[in-house]
Amino acid sequence: MRRVLVAGNWKMHKVPSEARVWLAELKRLLPPLDSEAAVLPAFPILPVAKEVLGGSQVAYGAQDVSAHREGAYTGEVSARMLKDLGCRYAIVGHSERRRYHGETDALVAEKAKRLLEEGITPILCVGEPLEVRERGEAVPYTLNQLLESLRGVEPPAPEALVVAYEPVWAIGTGKNATPSDAEAMHRALRQALSERYGAGFGERVRILYGGSVNPKNFADLLSQPNVDGGLVGGASLELESFLALLRIA
Ligand code: PEP
Repeated sequence: MRRVLVAGNWKMHKVPSEARVWLAELKRLLPPLDSEAAVLPAFPILPVAKEVLGGSQVAYGAQDVSAHREGAYTGEVSARMLKDLGCRYAIVGHSERRRYHGETDALVAEKAKRLLEEGITPILCVGEPLEVRERGEAVPYTLNQLLESLRGVEPPAPEALVVAYEPVWAIGTGKNATPSDAEAMHRALRQALSERYGAGFGERVRILYGGSVNPKNFADLLSQPNVDGGLVGGASLELESFLALLRIA
């Protein structure tokens, strides 16, 4: 009932001309899909994604969005702009933005609200740093981050929401959570969302795992009943490995 999603977070990689060639190849080589594929490139690539992927099976979206609707906010990109570019998704609360740009849960919640207003699906990232896991506090820390990053998103449930559990220590490090640790966290996240928005929503919401996903470990992660896909950084940049992930999904 929950459709698997494989979303590639390109971060600050590829220029628009490289992306054009890559995306056209992806379209050409795409296997038949039961799952959903999405690419999340940098802002200047989104018009290229619209041109190349528009009307195809592959969705696309952004890595961030402004917390403001419109106005004198130099350098910001609004949810309405993303909507006009055909984005289905946008990441909010990625740990790199929390860490390097000081993004707080309150800011992330505003960003999620702007996306929901425009009918764009937020991919809300949460996850604990290493010292929190070592203290044995990963679950309460991450649940608190989830609920704080949705503060002001009142019931009824934000049906479009996707959550990504990304333990900070697993991102870009080659270390990943064990399938059973990921499963335990996803179950706890689902339970928290059920308590906040109703049991039905907890069962409907898709929860992705992110953190050094690759074609070797993806099948085991996906075999967990509460893991609904992957948010993939490094392994989404090479066409072959992204296609391999899609074949696994
Ligand atoms: C990410 O950027 O969200 C991510 C999980 O990166 P990586 O797959 O490279 O760890």
